[in-house]
Amino acid sequence: RRSAPVVLAVRGLQARYGGFTALDGVGLDVHRGQVAAVIGPNGAGKSTLFDCLAGTLRPARGQVLLADRDITRLPAHTRTRLGIARTFQQLAVFPSLTVAENVRVGAEQGRVADPGAVDRALRLFGLDGPLRTLPAAGLPTGTLRRVELARALAGSPRVLLLDEPAAGLDSAEVAAMARVLKALAADGTALLVVEHDLDLVADLADVVHVMTAGRIVASGPPDRVLDEVGP
Ligand code: ADP
Ligand code: MG
Repeated sequence: RRSAPVVLAVRGLQARYGGFTALDGVGLDVHRGQVAAVIGPNGAGKSTLFDCLAGTLRPARGQVLLADRDITRLPAHTRTRLGIARTFQQLAVFPSLTVAENVRVGAEQGRVADPGAVDRALRLFGLDGPLRTLPAAGLPTGTLRRVELARALAGSPRVLLLDEPAAGLDSAEVAAMARVLKALAADGTALLVVEHDLDLVADLADVVHVMTAGRIVASGPPDRVLDEVGP
């Protein structure tokens, strides 16, 4: 899969919060059909990286390329339209909307107006039964994570940015999610996943990038990189 085309390219990304440098020259490529993981301690800059890729934070330096197009200065909603979808570490569903309505928002904001995408995304994440018409408010974390994933997927993205998708899930839910994410990658979607669960990273990722203090300090296949990082 390393020979597949690069969908998302990040070059020399630097981001600051006031005088604090949160990203200090981050570069990476994500290929079509590849699962790339970003791991690293709290405060390393993983969510900041996602904010720069999704367009909610403007980097001080560097470039973000989506299929060779420089999107560094495009607003978030335009990037969504071009095919970058994300989920949030802090869940961001609309509580008053139903599960299906939340997913429909993703389809409307996404890359292609595909009326079948909502049903497909709901089905893929097991949300097509009675859950479909329930308001998101009050649903358990595991279900809300699936709603977020389905919402992101309903826009038929080229790149999925997943910020700690396993947080708050039990092991059966994690296993089910891993199966779906692998199927999406096999279909050609590029996935960039921030994740603390290293067993999930080992299971899912083709390549792992280790971030510390705003830099990528190691990159490679999980069997090599995770050994170096240690338990
Ligand atoms: P991670 O997701 O790897 O835990 P973050 O990207 O959230 O790390 O944060 C990277 C660094 O930037 C941390 O030191 C954090 O305190 C700081 N930071 C994140 N968001 C802000 C913000 N809005 N204002 C100031 N500092 C921030
Ligand atoms: Mg984070």
